Amino acid sequence: MHTITLIPGDGVGPEVSEVAVRCIEATGVKINWEVFDAGEKALEKYNALLPQPLLQSIRKNRVALKGPVTTPIGQGFRSVNVELRKIFNLYACVRPCKTYEGVKSPYNNIDIVVIRENTEDLYAGVEFENSSPQAKEIIRWSEGKIFPDASISIKSISRTATERIARFAFEYARRNNRKKVSVVTKANIMKFTDGLFLEVAREVARRYPDIQFEERLVDNMCMQLVQKPHLYDVLLLPNLYGDIISDLCAGLVGGLGVAPGANLGDDCAIFEAIHGSAPKYKGMNKVNPTAMILSGVLMLEYIGEKKAAVALENAVRKVIKEGKYLTYDFKPFPEDSSAVGTKEMGDAIIRNLIEQ
Ligand code: NAD
Repeated sequence: MHTITLIPGDGVGPEVSEVAVRCIEATGVKINWEVFDAGEKALEKYNALLPQPLLQSIRKNRVALKGPVTTPIGQGFRSVNVELRKIFNLYACVRPCKTYEGVKSPYNNIDIVVIRENTEDLYAGVEFENSSPQAKEIIRWSEGKIFPDASISIKSISRTATERIARFAFEYARRNNRKKVSVVTKANIMKFTDGLFLEVAREVARRYPDIQFEERLVDNMCMQLVQKPHLYDVLLLPNLYGDIISDLCAGLVGGLGVAPGANLGDDCAIFEAIHGSAPKYKGMNKVNPTAMILSGVLMLEYIGEKKAAVALENAVRKVIKEGKYLTYDFKPFPEDSSAVGTKEMGDAIIRNLIEQ
């Protein structure tokens, strides 16, 4: 029996989480779920986006499955996701993007894994409003390079965090029989920050002669991914580019509805879909549960339940290929009357799992 923290989430979160939990349980793996709110719902109930009992549960269990949560905008709140990654030192964000037959995509054999540094870069939250003394000081010190009415964000890239994520990417490649790691930066412009990321990635690459290594600039990488995605295998990126490129890659394989993710540290992991809480679809039994179910597949692999992980992924693959029980986003037109709901797609996956 595994004990795992479950955060159903906000918006469509409870709907996709409920389906993912039923699918995971249908594999036969026994899980004792400790269920907690986070984000908007937790704020209403406990006046905290991340209540202490939730944090204690993750601290104890070291594994969580998380639905998307809403971070209220413009009230001084830091993103719940960024905060969780910081608290539990989940420095690696792993987002596999592969095509399943039956998904609408211009390509049919993409298998890319995006590995994003999760703790620093412009996401460290060191930001100054224009009226602050810090912003004024930085503007003065820039000697005219920055407009006087600018607000400032600090981009920090460290050797420590870069070496950690680069090693993670190469170890991941080796463990998963991947052939190539492509590091993605804008080192031609940001010579000290992205330059350091690139330099450290090169150093780490030398320790892995069995894995091919290549360098790309992020703007060119976007174009290459759109035109020739099959050329890419494992991508290694700093935080901001990683966030953007993983949505791009999700778009290549069918959209946010099918893109899972894992936030990993050395001894703790939180699994979640890439997508957000899609508030406009809340309670409508409409959105695609696949991303959340595939996040469950990654979780099953992580906790050592490989057979169950393979069986669940195969069931998802079959249902998508069959094309009978698919949510609206798989269809050419959103109003397609043959689309089924979140729950019905989940039921089809469970039926498939049981029949295997
Ligand atoms: P979003 O991902 O919630 O939704 C954008 C659009 O993508 C939706 O309107 C819908 O058309 C589509 N979509 C998303 N998930 C889908 C699914 N499972 N099936 C089918 N279509 C799907 O992004 P947003 O609107 O920018 O953000 C809404 C809220 O979610 C914000 O509060 C944001 O902070 C939060 N958010 C949370 C997470 C997380 O918890 N991991 C991630 C991103 C955004």
